Amino acid sequence: MHDLARLTAIELLDLYKRRETTPSEAVRACLDGIDSKEGVVGAFLHIDAEGAMARALRLDGEGIDGRPLFGVPVAVKDNICTSTMPTTCASRILGSYQPPYDATVVRRLEDAGAVIIGKTNLDEFAMGSSTENSAFHTTRNPWDESRAPGGSSGGSAAAVAAGMVPIALGSDTGGSIRQPASFCGVTGMKGTYGRVSRYGLIAFASSLDQIGPIARDVDDCALLMRVLSGKDPLDSTSISGETESWTTGTAGNIEGLRVGVPLRSPEWEMDGAVRELFARSVSAVMESGCTTGSAELPGMDKSIACYYIIANAEASSNLARFDGVRYGMRSDAETLIRMYEETRGEGFGAEVKRRILLGTYVLSSGYYDRYYSRARRARAEIKDDFKKIFEEFDAIILPTTPEPAFELGERLADPVSMYLSDIFTTPASIAGLPAISVPVGVTGDGLPVGMQIIAGEGREDIVFRVARVLQGSFGFVERYYSRSGEREGDER
Ligand code: GLN
Repeated sequence: MHDLARLTAIELLDLYKRRETTPSEAVRACLDGIDSKEGVVGAFLHIDAEGAMARALRLDGEGIDGRPLFGVPVAVKDNICTSTMPTTCASRILGSYQPPYDATVVRRLEDAGAVIIGKTNLDEFAMGSSTENSAFHTTRNPWDESRAPGGSSGGSAAAVAAGMVPIALGSDTGGSIRQPASFCGVTGMKGTYGRVSRYGLIAFASSLDQIGPIARDVDDCALLMRVLSGKDPLDSTSISGETESWTTGTAGNIEGLRVGVPLRSPEWEMDGAVRELFARSVSAVMESGCTTGSAELPGMDKSIACYYIIANAEASSNLARFDGVRYGMRSDAETLIRMYEETRGEGFGAEVKRRILLGTYVLSSGYYDRYYSRARRARAEIKDDFKKIFEEFDAIILPTTPEPAFELGERLADPVSMYLSDIFTTPASIAGLPAISVPVGVTGDGLPVGMQIIAGEGREDIVFRVARVLQGSFGFVERYYSRSGEREGDER
């Protein structure tokens, strides 16, 4: 008997084709998975059990009809607008706000036949690396309940890891898909900037934000990425392009590719198990016929500072719209100004306020040149560094994070230490490049470790190819999300 809630989307589709199960059975299995784990994990902010079941039952009676995600249950991060469910960004200021429209990605999911189960928890407005900044509750890492699932898409990564849904949507501004995917032992991807429409994604930092897939394996990630991608007239920064090669053709062959290993990596502080798995990953790609070499990424050290200036500057402007007039909550006050102040004072959490303050500061006329202009220049340099590297290499490999999942509460009092966990993910964000995190193993404490593959602009195909090889070499998916549902190790 298959444990339907632990299968990949592609395995589920296969069972539907063979008429061995139905969408309503899969949705039931996911809802059972949620019932048994959600009390501890806390991955969701809203679950639409009735709506999902009604849609699945309708699909039971229909043919697949070329729909690539027919009957596949999916969870959506709660900063993505849904017209049938609240969208809160895990913030009090949005309260129980329900958007009047669907994000383009939600439309695309539904057109592809997917069944949306609910909305997942996140750091408020996607600002954070642990999901502890949610105004509503903390999400726990399904591998170890005392640890953070990562963030900001911690709810989506935890839901996929815990057997609640096969796939989910996250958003990544500086690492928020890849870092939680790494912490939770799942695969997460952000595409080239513009690859996926941002229409209906509540903006944090518009020049960096991207929606992307979180899944149990690379093939599901590629399939979901294809559904999400494409030019959207509602987002002028969206791009078009060929996506078929992501799921077909030379899918697993990387012979002859040149993979760069960042030159400074021996100096970086890293957990011992992460360092060892990094070395083994480099060997694995070499054994598959790639050549490797040292890649100079001098901008790497600047990327955290650059990211936190640009992201916060954009956030301070984007979040100005939450004024108590247009969306969500409004505080009662005597005057208009007091109403603004009280709504924002009560509605935003501490981290969001910190970022609005920092962002406003770096954009202020007295400090603009000193911070914002310099960060923009650093951004251009980082982009240039990458451009040079991709003349010499097809892809870069490096860990997703320097350490595995940290303890809940450990970094809350020290925002800079929290920010530093993004050291390896922010460069690809700043440069707008496609990057994936693939689980390659676990530490001595049984915590998953993710490896990151970055490729040049528009080269998602290469990212997927190298990622498949890594996945194949380490056997992580077979071990923890096997077809029969019997897994080694802990009860997740
Ligand atoms: N952790 C980073 C931050 O706090 C990235 C967040 C994100 O990618 N949304 O800004």
